[in-house]
Parts: sequence; structure tokens; C-alpha cells
Amino acid sequence: MLRNLLRPFILFVVFWLAPTAPAHSAVPEVLVTIKPIHSLVSGLLQDIAEPGLLIEGYQSPHTFQLRPGDLDKIHRAEILIWIGPGIETPLQRIIGQQTDKTVIRLGDDIQVADDHHQADSDHHQADSDHHHLHEDQHRWMDPYLVLEDMQRVSRILSRHLPAHVSTIERNLARLTERMQRLDQDIRARFAGPQTIPALLYHDAWGRFLERYELEMHGIVNPHAHAQPGARHLHDIEEIIKRRQTRCLMVEPQFRSSQVETLQARYELQIIKLDPLGADLPATADAYFTLMRNMTEALAGCR
Ligand SMILES: [Zn+2]
Repeated sequence: MLRNLLRPFILFVVFWLAPTAPAHSAVPEVLVTIKPIHSLVSGLLQDIAEPGLLIEGYQSPHTFQLRPGDLDKIHRAEILIWIGPGIETPLQRIIGQQTDKTVIRLGDDIQVADDHHQADSDHHQADSDHHHLHEDQHRWMDPYLVLEDMQRVSRILSRHLPAHVSTIERNLARLTERMQRLDQDIRARFAGPQTIPALLYHDAWGRFLERYELEMHGIVNPHAHAQPGARHLHDIEEIIKRRQTRCLMVEPQFRSSQVETLQARYELQIIKLDPLGADLPATADAYFTLMRNMTEALAGCR
């Protein structure tokens, strides 16, 4: 009886909504800041929705500058996933203002002074200002850590997408399997603890090195948003001479004349290492390709 009474009303609602609300409108818009995390969230949302990506191409999340189109993306999103001020430092303020949406922060609850505009001086801010002096926030470099993050994200997504819970569960199971395979393959590639005779450009690989018991010779630019100082470069040259460093890992997000100088002076082999996968299409595969490419690049320095 009740159903019969309600039917015209239901039909009316469906008709009324139809022109303005396309079929996928029930799925909230998800925006992810950086490509490796976007890739994993794409995997979680497979067959449900396509998350948006905020920081594309060769931009560094440490020095990212918001354009009007980016603001639109942020305002449109209902669920926003980022690591936190330790990585996407310039987004700290704008994301802090998004009180009307679900913001999922994967990283630690730290505050970082947005001081990259002063990056051209040799003078460094107080230690507490910089993320690389906090616990390493490049979480995706550790497959297990980022898998834990995705378990948490999947629980939150399930709450917002109750009609898709079983698909999210299936996707998480697939992601877990893929992550285990990746971990095994990386382990097999390095076969035990070892030192790679290389310098990294910036300090993004700490968690990877720790997980796989690897060691590097040093870091050219420990402060991601400032140029390295003269004293630090002097120390780096001493390391190259003393330890006979063979390779210099460069990143497409950073350009540096110091890299060219060091390479020319010590005939270092330049190896491209991209922690964000700037060249890769933003798909569910991107994370895995990025990690495998990185493994090959690191293992290639002998
Ligand atoms: Zn970094």
C-alpha cells in the first residue's frame, strides 16, 4: 500500500533529477595531490570512478604553485587525499581551509613553514621548518607503509560509497597482491643489504633504502626547496673522492648547476631517478612502473 502511494513520488524524483544528475553523480569527486598516491587510489576505485590528479607533469610538490584551474579542482572535490605539509608544503593553507569536505591526510600531523619563497639564499630556516628533518614523509617509497595507507583510505571510501563496498574490497585485495609481488621483486633485485655508490639529489628515498637495507653515499641537496650551501657541496665533494662515488641520481623536478659541475669534475654517471613518475600516464599502473623503474635505476649503479 505504502509502496503504491510512494510510486508516483519516486518516479517524479527520478524524472526531476535526470537532466541535471548523470548516472555517476552518486560517486563523490575524489582529488589526489601527487601521482604515486593517485595511482593507488585509482586502483582502489577501479570500475567505480576516476580520481582527479592535482600536481601533474614535472612540478615538484615541495614548490608547487597553485593556478586558478587547480583551485577549481580543489573546490570541486568532495574527498581530498594528500600526504601533508611535509610533502605538499605550498598546499598547507588552502587544504586547511577545506572544512566542508573530507580531507584524508596520509602523513604525520606536522606544520611546516611555507618558506620556499626565500629559497634563493644560502641561509636555512630553523630546523623545525623543514620536512626532511622530520620523519621522512615520502611514504610511497615504502610499499608496506603506503599499503597501510590504502587500507585506511579504502575504509573511508567505503563509508562514502556504500553502494561500492564490495568492489572496493576486491580492489584492495588486488592492490595488496600486486604490492606483495612488487616487494618480492625489489628484494630479489638487490639480494641483501648493500651500499650503492651513488649520490641522491634530494632526500626522497630514505624509506625505500631502509626497507630494502640499502645505503647511498650522500644527498646533494638535503633541503628540497633551497639550493645546497657551499659548505655542504664541499662535504659532498669530499665524499665523492673518499668513497669513489660512481653515480649521481638526478630528478626531473629539480634543475641544478651543481649537478653539472659535479658530473664534469668527477665523471659521475648520471642516472635519472624520478620519485613522482612525471613521465608516466596517471593510471593505476603508474605506481608500480615508477617503483620498478626506480629499482632498475638504483641497481644499475655499480
Ligand atoms: Zn621530497
